[in-house]
Parts: sequence; structure tokens; C-alpha cells
Amino acid sequence: MARESIYKRYKPSHNPHHNNAGPAYWFVFQLNKLLIDTNNPINIPFTKNLGKLKISPIRTQYIGTLDQHPCYSAEVIPKTDAPEGMVFKDLRQSYDDLDEDVYLLAGRAVQIVNWDSNHQFCGKCGTATETKVDEMVKLCPECGFSSHTRLSPAVITAIVKDGKLLMAKHNNAPNNRYGLIAGFVEAGETLEEAVLRETLEEVGLSIKDIEYFGSQPWPFPNSLMIAFTAKYDSGEIMVDGEEIAHAKWFSPDELPDIPSRISIAGELIDWYKKKYKKNFP
Ligand SMILES: [Zn+2]
Repeated sequence: MARESIYKRYKPSHNPHHNNAGPAYWFVFQLNKLLIDTNNPINIPFTKNLGKLKISPIRTQYIGTLDQHPCYSAEVIPKTDAPEGMVFKDLRQSYDDLDEDVYLLAGRAVQIVNWDSNHQFCGKCGTATETKVDEMVKLCPECGFSSHTRLSPAVITAIVKDGKLLMAKHNNAPNNRYGLIAGFVEAGETLEEAVLRETLEEVGLSIKDIEYFGSQPWPFPNSLMIAFTAKYDSGEIMVDGEEIAHAKWFSPDELPDIPSRISIAGELIDWYKKKYKKNFP
């Protein structure tokens, strides 16, 4: 994977006990919109408390340190006005405003905000939950039921046959765009089994030589994308016409509109082009 770990700059923690002095970075969310402060070098509000920005959060969560500064996530009500010189911006559209580490940390923050908001009460007995101090876990004091942050793993695969890449058009894809074969992992499956099943379901093909490529958190709303490469084994392309409208093999020179560079799909396609396109830079 091209990107370096965010943990070079970021130290995760749930307990602010030794780190509550000095200003902090605030990842403030209004639904899925992040508060961007362009007056600040990393474009995230940097202040000791949100009161100084006249913001009253519903809830806040300590999420660790970035470059030794404490970081908090926070949720505000939808009608909250952005302070002067700042703007609430859809997280997915904020990629160009933030450096990659900060963007990834914002993705972690929004998932913690949503998890905290959605687990205020026990999903089993309805009692108000308590948050564990040293762990991202909500505990029910009544029945002991525990809730971790929700993650939905999904697999995405670059499948190659005779130097061509398989791409499919989902009926609900934006701008009629072709994409790689992808889908959520189901209970009881290994990742490789999910890759095999999704490929068979979506395009009717059998594949082989499935190899791990890399992974990427995808906080829209709570996926973890796990990417693979694979080779065609047998079968003819057959789509259901409902979920998948069309699928075909593309040579490196006739690739359709490809997903944006923020996604691991983009990295898989770059991997394919490097390997199969002559004179690729
Ligand atoms: Zn309970």
C-alpha cells in the first residue's frame, strides 16, 4: 500500500487523563459534515474548548493525540452555525482540504461520534449504557451487553484475464460509472470466500489465485474495504440486470471513468495499469 500509517503522527487513546492541558484539535461533526477551519495549518479547529467558538456539542469523545496535541471528536445539532471563517463540509468532499492523515483521522472520528450517538441505550434491554474508560466499548450496567464500534467489512477485487481487467456497472452507481467487483462480507465467511461468492453472484465467473492487496477504512458510514487481486478461472460473464447492469473486460487503454484517487479501488486500478499497461509512468 502506498500510504504510510497514520500512527506515525497519531496515538490513539480513550482516556484524556494526562493530556488535557493546552489547546486541542476538534473534529466537530454535524451529521456527516466536518467543521473545517481554513485559518489553521491542518484545517481542523485548534482550541482549548469549543465554548470559545460558541459551539455547544451534544457529546464529545477523546480520541488520542495528533503531533502530541490532544484530539476530540464532537457532535453538534444539525442547526448549528459554523463559526466565522469556518464551514461544515461533507467528509467525503473534504479530502482535498485535509492532508491524508488528518482525513483518515476524521474518518475515525465520525465513526466514533456515530457509535456513541447510536449506542446511548442497550440494544438488548434498553437501559442507558456506560462507556468504558480505557476501551471503545459501551456497557449495559443492567444486563452486561457490550457494544463495540460497528464495522462492516467489504471486499473489492481486481480480476484479470489475458491482461484485461473486469469492471462492472452497478445500477445505483453515480454517473453510470464502472467499478470493480465488491460487496459486504457475510457472517461465517473468510474474506477469500466473500471474494469468490461476490464474483459468482455479480458476474457469474469463477476466479483463482486470490491475493491480498491492502485495506482501507471507508467511513461512509462504517466500512472497512479489504482489497484483493485475482485471476479469471472459468465461466462466461452473466449479470442479473438488477444489481449489475453490465460487465466487461477492459484493456489498459480502454479503461472507463475510474473511481477517484481517495479510494482503494483507485489504487487497485493503478496497480493493474502499472503491471499491464506499456509505458505506464
Ligand atoms: Zn442491557
